[in-house]
This record gives sequence, C-alpha cells and structure tokens, in this order.
Amino acid sequence: MDDPQRYWSPTARRLVPYVPGEQPKTGRPVKLNTNENPYPPSPRVIEAIRNAADDPLRLYPDPESTRLREAAGDLYGLPPDMVFPGNGSDEVLAHAFMAFFSRERPVFFPDVTYSFYPVYAALYDLPFRTVPLGEDFRLRLEDYPLPNGGVVIANPNAPTGIALPAKEIEAFLKKNTDSLLLVDEAYVDFGAESVVPLVSRYPNLLVVQTLSKSRALAGLRVGFAIGNASLVAALDRVKNSFNSYPLDRLAIAGAVAALEDRDYFRAIRDRIVESRGTLSRELTKLGFEVLPSAANFLFARHPGHAAREIASLLRSRQILVRHFDAPRTRDFLRITIGTDEECTALLTALAGISDLLPPRILTGRKGS
Ligand code: PMP
Repeated sequence: MDDPQRYWSPTARRLVPYVPGEQPKTGRPVKLNTNENPYPPSPRVIEAIRNAADDPLRLYPDPESTRLREAAGDLYGLPPDMVFPGNGSDEVLAHAFMAFFSRERPVFFPDVTYSFYPVYAALYDLPFRTVPLGEDFRLRLEDYPLPNGGVVIANPNAPTGIALPAKEIEAFLKKNTDSLLLVDEAYVDFGAESVVPLVSRYPNLLVVQTLSKSRALAGLRVGFAIGNASLVAALDRVKNSFNSYPLDRLAIAGAVAALEDRDYFRAIRDRIVESRGTLSRELTKLGFEVLPSAANFLFARHPGHAAREIASLLRSRQILVRHFDAPRTRDFLRITIGTDEECTALLTALAGISDLLPPRILTGRKGS
C-alpha cells in the first residue's frame, strides 16, 4: 500500500489528538499520573450498577439521562433542565466548543491549562489564542481581552492546581457579557469555590464537572455541565446530532448513586485533601518547590534535578507521575495524590534522588 493516509479526510489528516496519561496494561505500578481517585467508588455505586446489569440492558437507555440530570441538579438545588450530562466531561467540553464558539472571533484560554482545549478548537477549526499565566502561574482574568469569542478556564487550573476565587470569576462575568465563559471544575471538590451558584444570574456562564475525580468514577465516564436552560438546550442539539445515547444504563445508575452518597464522597475527598497537605510538606522538605494546590494533584519542581529524569527514575521503581514537555511546564512533575501508602512509596523513592541523579545544569530562569 503506497499512501497509508490515502482514504483520510483532510480533517483527519490535520488533527493533532490529545495524548492521555499512560494506563499500564500489566503490573500494578503506583499510579500517580492521571489524577484518578486512589479510593474505590461508593459501595452504593457498585450495588446500583449490579442491579442495572439485568434484562433492561436489551433496551436503549433514556436518551436524556433524566435521573442523572435530576441528581446532579439536586446537588445545587437546580432544576434538571439546567444540567447537561455526557460521556465524561471531555465529551461535554467537546460539545460546548461546538455549541458556543465560532470562527468569527477567537476563543481564549490560558497558555498553561488542560491540553485538550486546543485540540477541541482545532477539531472544529475554531481560532484560539492563549493568554499567559503570571510568572507565579496564577490565572489573571483581567488579562483576557474584551470582546472575545469565548473564554475557557479550568478552576482549579490543571496542571498547576492553583484555584481562582469565585469573586474574581464573577468580576469578569460582569464585564464579559457578550460571549460564553466556560469554567471547567473537574477538580473543584478538592478545595476550590464552585461558581455553580452564579449560573442563575449569569446566562453566559457554563460550569463543567466530572465524576471521574472526587467521586472515583473515571472508569464509568460521566461528566455534566450546569448552566442556563438555553445553554443546555444548545448542548442537547449538538448531542442529538452526534449520539442519542452517550450514557448507558450502567453509567446512569452508577452516577446517580454516586451523587446521592454524599457522606462517602466527603469522606474520601477529606482523606485526599489531608494527604495532599502531608505530601506537599514532605516534598518541600526534600527540596521541591510545590505550587499551592486546590486539586487532587501537586505540581512540583526540584531546583537540582530535571523533571524528566526524576520521572524516569520513578518509573524504574514502578511509580508513574506525569511530565508535560512544554516550555513552561517541563521543569515540573504533576503528581496525583495517592493513598498514604502510595505517597510514602513516592517519598521513599525520592529520598535518595540526590545520590542517584546527576545534578541539573541550572538555567537560572524560573519556569524556563
Ligand atoms: N478537565 C480537566 C481539567 C481534566 O484534567 C480532565 C481529566 N483529564 C477532564 C476535564 C476530563 O475528565 P473526564 O472526561 O474524565 O470527565
């Protein structure tokens, strides 16, 4: 065969897909590379999925996932028509890019953020611009231009973990009334302030959340957006032009149970927040600089050693962390908060790094 891309569309040819963190197929490494929850989902989730794994699997699921819209709305005292569920928040984000942004004006997001945003923009051929975070990696909404074709932020941001106070987001919404502000709250439950309470007052605010992180359900693929009913109607139009049934019966049953079991959610969330404090202090003692995280991961660099080398040393000891090889992030490692045993394994492996790794030739420029 001469050209392996012979039958590809021009779109398929130009795509540069997102690369997810590694999911090892063998062994059981200490897996601190994809921000999964180290604890199992609520036992009520497993029970609900078991009960749903029955004869009705013959039948298509509810195309609107109404029970899930209700359960997610109940979390915030909002009606189901303000909730749009999807197959992971990635799918919800993708639909939002199609539903709310256009070729007329660029959409803006930070230079250091979730790397799927530029992928969605490219998929739909939407122009975009990035706005640099400050030297301290903080997001400054006052740097975003008006007018714009839309703004997308993650709060807390990823991979930095740094959160923005809700009042700063509200100040921006007061000025930015002509385009959508999309706030990706994938990690909000671990310590940031949600802006969901603002959606009733700001018709151009869309908030996206996921059950993958704080509810320990990355494997079930459930996320949702919350916003004004007319924003949800636009998302439904896109969804119903793409896949009528993005959420299967098992996912709907499990997700509803997860959202209802609030005590379990709080218990595992609190444990992760506590472990985050300990891990951050211990990494600092080992000489790391750790950014202040409101998420279930830490973003840390060591002044004496290259992040890539630390990551490969850890890998040789069956510990996976994430390294993003981009100009502003390549000095850092993103480390998911594991169980206390996993965090201890990481710290033990790192304790001897100065003896194991050659010292780095310091460039002298922070974040370079
Ligand atoms: N947003 C951010 C900022 C993320 O880090 C992730 C996880 N990779 C997602 C959204 C997507 O999560 P999911 O599709 O599992 O809901």
